[in-house]
Amino acid sequence: MKKHILSLSLALLFTLTAVAQFNKNIVVAHRGAWKTNGLPENSIASLNKAIEEGCHGAEFDVHLTKDDILVVNHDHDFYGLDIEKSTYAELLTKKHPNGESIPTLEAYLAAGMKQKKTKLILEIKTSRISPERALEVTSAAVAMVQKLKATKWVEYICFSYEVGKRIHELDKKAKIQYLEGNKPPAELKAAGYTGLDYHFSVYKEHPNWIAEAHKLGLTVNAWTVNDRAEMENLISQKVEYITTNEPELLFEVVKK
Ligand code: MG
Repeated sequence: MKKHILSLSLALLFTLTAVAQFNKNIVVAHRGAWKTNGLPENSIASLNKAIEEGCHGAEFDVHLTKDDILVVNHDHDFYGLDIEKSTYAELLTKKHPNGESIPTLEAYLAAGMKQKKTKLILEIKTSRISPERALEVTSAAVAMVQKLKATKWVEYICFSYEVGKRIHELDKKAKIQYLEGNKPPAELKAAGYTGLDYHFSVYKEHPNWIAEAHKLGLTVNAWTVNDRAEMENLISQKVEYITTNEPELLFEVVKK
């Protein structure tokens, strides 16, 4: 009996350890950790740097090519080629300055899943083609995350309210934060969002929203905060996350 209890406790301990592996800090590296390292934004190299620095999350942006390949890049164009109007093969004719090609979402997730410390903060870029295409990008991205069994790593963010609702329809357990800044916390909660991720100025316009969100069990993130004083201000309001181009500075502020 004693032996049985011991093995049960050990199993529980292993489970708890497995759950608690991701870094618990406030730092989300915006487009990876690129700035102080001279790396291309949204490259696998900037993802790996964010992981190496121990960030809670590495943020990145997802588009769908003309021939339905999911790729990772911030702008709607990749070195002059409009991503949505180009085939993946056409995009491969361009390279980042560090020699990387535009990462596919599949390659990016595979790289991120080699570790279990840093979350992958997946932004669905709103398609410029049509609202329907925006939902197609969303369905394709969620399907890719599920195919790779990456759900434990991935949290979603989006500017399109409809995109977030679609993610929730497709994965009821998904963590989804809304970026646009124009909805009060209660409305987000009702739509299936799990958090807000607003420009830091929005929390000044709506000084109650952080506390309201917390009461509803929503997480609060702010973008894109590169200034020490604003970091300190948000930390004093107990936000869960801050998205920044300066993860090294934010770590410094947190450790102070
Ligand atoms: Mg983004």
